[in-house]
Parts: sequence; C-alpha cells; structure tokens
Amino acid sequence: MKRFSIAVLPGDGIGPEIVHEATKILKSAAGRHGCELDLHEALVGGASIDAYGVPLKDSVLELTLKSDAVLLGAVGGPKWEGLDYSIRPERALLALRKELGLFANLRPAKIYRSLIDSSTLKPEVIDGVDIMVIRELTGGLYFGMPKGIEKLPDGTERGVNTMVYTTPEIERIARVGFEVARKRKKRLLSVDKANVLETTELWRKVVTRVGKDYPDVHLTHMYVDNCSMQLVRNPRQFDCIVTENTFGDILSDEAAMLTGSIGMLPSASLGATRNRAMYEPIHGSAPDIAGKGIANPIATILSVAMMFKYSFDMEEAASEIENAVEKVLDVGLRTSDIAAPGAKEVSCSEMGEAILRELDG
Ligand code: NAD
Repeated sequence: MKRFSIAVLPGDGIGPEIVHEATKILKSAAGRHGCELDLHEALVGGASIDAYGVPLKDSVLELTLKSDAVLLGAVGGPKWEGLDYSIRPERALLALRKELGLFANLRPAKIYRSLIDSSTLKPEVIDGVDIMVIRELTGGLYFGMPKGIEKLPDGTERGVNTMVYTTPEIERIARVGFEVARKRKKRLLSVDKANVLETTELWRKVVTRVGKDYPDVHLTHMYVDNCSMQLVRNPRQFDCIVTENTFGDILSDEAAMLTGSIGMLPSASLGATRNRAMYEPIHGSAPDIAGKGIANPIATILSVAMMFKYSFDMEEAASEIENAVEKVLDVGLRTSDIAAPGAKEVSCSEMGEAILRELDG
C-alpha cells in the first residue's frame, strides 16, 4: 500500500479556510485509491509570527524536509506589513523554496467551459485552452550576480542585474519540462530570446540536446516576445511551455489571466527529488474576504490534484478531482468571485462539500 506524509501549512487570511476544504478532498481521494496519508499541520507566515515571533520555525522546516509533499494555503496580510523584511510572512515562502530546492514552478491555466465568460478574451479564442507553464524558479535575472545600484562619479546611478544560467540548471528544468509533457500531449515549447541573449542561446542548445533523451516528445522553440503575443492571439496552440525565470514569471501570469479567475488556479513547485514538492494556489491570502467563509477553495483543491499527479504518480486520483470540480461548476455552483447570473452562490465550505460529494458519488 502507498503511504505518504504531507506537511499541511494553512498560513494566513483565507489560507485556513481553503486548506480545510482541500484536506477533505485529499483524504477522500487517497482513501478511495488505497493510499494512506500522514498529515501534519503547522503554522507558517503571519500565524507563526504571532505565535512564535518568526515566520518559519526550524521544526516546521524540518517537517517539510521529512515530508513527501507540502500543501500550502497562503501567507501575509496587512497586520504584518510594517515588520522588517527579514521576518515578514513572505520570508517563510522564500525559505521553503530555497531549503527544499524548488527550482521548477508548474502553473496550469485551463479554461472551464462553464466559466468561459469570466475571461476578458472572446469565448471562441479561449474555448478549450489548457496550458501548462513550467518556469525555472531559482536562476536567471532574479538571482544572477553582479546585481545592484551603484553611484557613478558624474553623480548618476547605474543599475545592474545579470541573466545567468549554467548547463546543469538548464538541463534539470528541461527534464522537468519533458517529463511533464509526457504526462500531457507530448508537446513541449521552449521559450527563449536566443536571437539576442547569449544566456538563452545556451538555453536553446541545452534544451535541444536534452530533447534527444525524449524522442516521444515533440520539441519546438519560440521567442518570448512572439509567445506573449500568441498567448492572446491564439492560446489554443499551446500545451506545455518551458522557460527561464523572468520570462516564466511574466508568461505564467499572462496565461493565468486568460482564465479570468484567480481563485481557480493551482500550482506546484518541484525540486530535484520526488519528496521535494510544494503545492499551493497562485492567489494570496485575500485579507479582504478572510473569515467571511466566501473564499473559493478550488485553486487549492486543484493543487491537491497536482500533488496526486506529480508527487504520487496517481493520475487517476488527480483526474477524478479535476472532473469533480468541473461537474460542480457545470451544475452552476459558484463562489462569489466567479458568480454569474443564474448560478447558485455558495460558501467556501459548501463548494468544498459539493466537490467532495461529487468525488465520493
Ligand atoms: P490576493 O491574491 O490575496 O487577492 C487579490 C484579490 O483576489 C482580492 O480581491 C481577493 O479577495 C481575491 N481572491 C484571491 N484569492 C481568492 C479566492 N480563493 N477566492 C475568492 N477571491 C480571491 O492578492 P493581494 O491582495 O495582492 O495580496 C494579499 C496578501 O497575500 C498580501 O499580504 C500578499 O503579500 C500575500 N500573497 C501571498 C502569496 C502566497 O502566499 N503565495 C501570493 C500572493 C500574495
């Protein structure tokens, strides 16, 4: 029998509400597939600052390092905004990403037919869109050295960032890209700016070389400026996109907004080994609606589906969760963020329960 241990970190704001619903789905799906789970819940972010004075205790970090996967809600909120940067809630996220070595960020953007009107794009353009952006998370422009702002003798200033990638860094994210593409339509698009940036000339060369190990996956390349245009012109042409940190940051937000609903979007961040993985919604702690019971739990529930797919190799369990979400949306249940005329508006827990019933159906 499969057995997994999961660190559950609800965090702040709506975090506890949405994670509560997602945990029910996690247990139910595992149970039906004969998989045992050890769930260990802990405080993180602002909740941890209030209780212990730090956003991430060493013992919680240890817990995540010992676990097979981490399920995170969200961290942060106005209450902690005045604190020094070194102990802000968001530090917990950065520390987790660093210590777990999470270098690959997977962000799907899928259009649900029943939510097609939430998008700002025309239905005929986005109908059927199902894209996965795989973004390198620990290298490139955001981390490259040298960086900084210096004063020049003439009194002006000079700002510098460095886009740098080594062959091993490109190889490992490329492999994630090919592996993910294998679980989807076996098509991988690598995005770069190889006509201008030497760093991404190397990127293209290395991705192409790694591609020889995956003859079953069809690899293509596109420049980032073109990709950003194509995403709004004809997004259906895309399936899996792999790209470096800065391009991925921008393109994954652009792809996400095709769907028009932030409460629906899950994510996974993966490290070098199977037991290094964190799953979380892409949205934040939504302090404006925290405690009102109206948050949309679907992004977190779909993050659980990703956990089954990418950490536990339980694709059937993942599909069942995705189908249950789709069915509940099809019958017209909506949380307030995705409300529509004629649809039935439900609370966070009612949405969670409806998905659970559909799953257990
Ligand atoms: P946000 O994503 O929390 O909220 C943006 C808007 O979307 C708000 O109006 C909110 O009510 C709505 N929203 C978000 N998720 C929703 C859901 N599941 N259901 C219904 N409505 C939802 O972004 P923000 O307001 O810019 O940030 C709030 C706090 O969250 C800040 O402290 C920020 O630093 C933090 N944050 C955390 C993470 C994270 O933990 N990964 C990510 C982004 C922001």
